[in-house]
Amino acid sequence: MRIVKVDEAFTIKRTVEAGKEKEQQIVDGIIKQVREQGDEALFALTRDLDGADLTQLKVKQSELDQAYQQVEPNVIAAIREAIERIRDFHQRQVTQSWMTTHSDGVMLGQKVTPLDRVGVYVPGGKAAYPSSIIMNVVPAQVAGVSEIAMVSPSQKNGQLPAGVLVTAHELGIKEIYKIGGAQAVAALAYGTETIAPVDKITGPGNIFVALAKRAVYGVVDIDMIAGPSDITVLADETAIPSHVAADLLSQAEHDELATAVLVTDSKTLADAVSEQVETQLKTLPKEDIARTSIENQGVIYLTENLVQSIRTVNQLAPEHLEIIVENPMEQLGKIRHAGAIFLGPYTTEPVGDYFAGPNHVLPTEGTARFSSPLSVDDFVKKSSVLSYSKEALIAQADAITTLARLEGLEAHARAVEIRLGDDSDE
Ligand code: NAD
Repeated sequence: MRIVKVDEAFTIKRTVEAGKEKEQQIVDGIIKQVREQGDEALFALTRDLDGADLTQLKVKQSELDQAYQQVEPNVIAAIREAIERIRDFHQRQVTQSWMTTHSDGVMLGQKVTPLDRVGVYVPGGKAAYPSSIIMNVVPAQVAGVSEIAMVSPSQKNGQLPAGVLVTAHELGIKEIYKIGGAQAVAALAYGTETIAPVDKITGPGNIFVALAKRAVYGVVDIDMIAGPSDITVLADETAIPSHVAADLLSQAEHDELATAVLVTDSKTLADAVSEQVETQLKTLPKEDIARTSIENQGVIYLTENLVQSIRTVNQLAPEHLEIIVENPMEQLGKIRHAGAIFLGPYTTEPVGDYFAGPNHVLPTEGTARFSSPLSVDDFVKKSSVLSYSKEALIAQADAITTLARLEGLEAHARAVEIRLGDDSDE
């Protein structure tokens, strides 16, 4: 792996996103087609882009039953336990409505309401992602969303992978549609004869999905535009090189565009990890993808001390951050930007991908500077609540009307003053 020396003056430059005009044009065309032709467009696009000749868009009960025949009991058991752990974690995120009362008769508060209907995109082009279903659906259910529609691209045989169907069924999802890409996003946003429109679309996907989500934002809400995955390992000389290398490769195998970074103040560790990455790459089934990722984006930042290492990590604002140093807990407070923080030598990143409980949908490409993991909060909205007594209105009338007239809004001031006299309508 490439080693870059870091000193006091070192700063990480943010790369500017390259233009995506060609894909944007394709996506705009697909959205238009779905808006104009509804289901007919979905059948045609699924035939053209996924090679599947569907007879119906919605998954039938018989397909779910069949899927259970194809999945081993130990897989179902693992899915169930993952759902339970992830649900338990998200239940702790629930925020309650609240109200404060003041002695003058003013009541102020915030009412929390779940979204009515949400669409979950489950990617399916190159691989099946049952874990994505759990990570998107569980927070929506915990928030109290009553309708969840799931979409995922059909395989060539007109079916969804059995693992995807079983996971969706275990979560109790009633609406599953065999469509993917920009056409699925458009169908969820605008609705078709078969698919009712949703209020928010969540879930990762390729460039066509990401651009479609960006295009329909405003008609519906979206969770985020997820970029390629990244991991940063912050380690000192106590870290075991083979473990660090394995963790870097666990992200590199996701995507040629994924980024794996080691930040360390130990030259010995840097050299050993570099060597281990090469050794382990040779036996990985996805060697080609991981090698391209490591060669293009992989880097070891070699710092002069732990303070510089932490400064570098905060500049990277990684999606996943592993801290494998002598006292990881002591460093936690110094980390300002990271999507998920994995502490100590045994908290390898995959525990968070599948099982521990926290969400694996995390801010990528440095966006942890300003955004958070997907959570229950993404599936609720808040209304402010205000209630005034007559006494409270009289007491505050001067200040309110003064501010209204400062803005030249006379009707605002009069709406207050009209209530200050007696209550009878002369
Ligand atoms: P996908 O479901 O996102 O995309 C497949 C769809 O793309 C197809 O159904 C098709 O409709 C559309 N498409 C493909 N080529 C097209 C073309 N030329 N023109 C128009 N539409 C086209 O599946 P994918 O492609 O495998 O991508 C999945 C992505 O999701 C990967 O980048 C993966 O890393 C990411 N992912 C992220 C997470 C996460 O939590 N961040 C989890 C799982 C997957």
